[in-house]
Amino acid sequence: AHRFDSIAMAAPDAILGIGEAFAADPRSEKMNLSVGVYKDAAGTTPIMQCVKAAEQKILESETTKSYLPIDGLPDYRNAVREMLLGDQVPADRVAVLQTPGGTGALRVAAEFLATQCSPTRVFVPNPTWANHTAIMRAAGLPVETYRYLGSDRHSLDFQAMVDDLTENTRPGDAVLLHACCHNPTGVDPTTDQWQEIAKLLASRGLIPLLDFAYQGFGDGLEEDAAGLRTVLQHCDEAIACSSYSKNFGLYSERVGAATLIAATPSATAASLSQLKIVVRANYSNPPRHGGAIVATVLADPELTKIWKTELEGKRLRIKQLREQFVAGMKQQPGAPDFSFLLQQKGMFSFSGLSAMQVDELRTKHGVYVVGSGRINVAGMNEEKMDWLCQAVADVM
Ligand code: PMP
Repeated sequence: AHRFDSIAMAAPDAILGIGEAFAADPRSEKMNLSVGVYKDAAGTTPIMQCVKAAEQKILESETTKSYLPIDGLPDYRNAVREMLLGDQVPADRVAVLQTPGGTGALRVAAEFLATQCSPTRVFVPNPTWANHTAIMRAAGLPVETYRYLGSDRHSLDFQAMVDDLTENTRPGDAVLLHACCHNPTGVDPTTDQWQEIAKLLASRGLIPLLDFAYQGFGDGLEEDAAGLRTVLQHCDEAIACSSYSKNFGLYSERVGAATLIAATPSATAASLSQLKIVVRANYSNPPRHGGAIVATVLADPELTKIWKTELEGKRLRIKQLREQFVAGMKQQPGAPDFSFLLQQKGMFSFSGLSAMQVDELRTKHGVYVVGSGRINVAGMNEEKMDWLCQAVADVM
């Protein structure tokens, strides 16, 4: 008998499946607000100029395709440490590993926690990026949730979050926090709330696990690192999983980093050695190209300047789209107030659209939104804003 004949069909990916349906939609007036990719005013995701220039340099100077070290390119690792931490933590307490995307970083971190810090569990916010739970579970790390979004569905229920992290955790558990631009809600803690979170983590002996996929999309590159840095003012230990998919537009090159901060240089070295064991058994060593691009840009002051300008352009455009959408909805008679979108950070927001309204938006108007009502603001478009606002008002 065949062994594969009885295998059940898995459900398609909830978000990527929407992209396929969008592509197959024959209507000329349509808009995709689902997948988490930045789009410019023309609706495309072009390669950033700084990346093109870095690739040119790499093409001319690269002499080998031999393997990278297990933890990746040294220049990349130093550049990541600086982007994340500035000079707040001495380098000998920081281990950075270049990983295949932020997803790879999360998987490495989760396996490290599951194997080296057992019986740790990880607490993730409700809601969170759906893949968090899948990655942690696949690594054998038990997953619990803490309350995050308020019942209004567009602000943080901070008291509930604090209550859950105080009452439900045991010392040694890990707490996953979105360092900025929470996906899927766009709702971030304030500066004061980060202070309280940091103190709570420290006093309860919890391990901070920061997912940092959108540095530069909230309030700015340095500003967005404030949450992570506040945590490290109070906690000696943490792990950050960062991604350069969005802020360098390197989605398909798979470039991210797992960064572990330990209390002492010897604990850092031992932890790094165990992280390398995890990597070895997963993908052996990281791909070079994406990391080389980031390292090349950040080693060159001129390219760094171009990068910062390009990234700032994306950040400000998303802010502008939020403002235009809120203003546009104000023009729609009887439509609800969307001002809360102005407080939310990054590409994503919870729109408050119900599953039924999401359905109707797609079938009637060709506007594609994730079932939870999460919208990718970067998928909006200046020219079609009135059309979009009419469609949203029609279903609400
Ligand atoms: N964390 C969050 C919150 C994300 O939204 C994403 C990307 N969608 C990632 C991690 C992973 O990013 P990458 O594509 O670099 O694996």
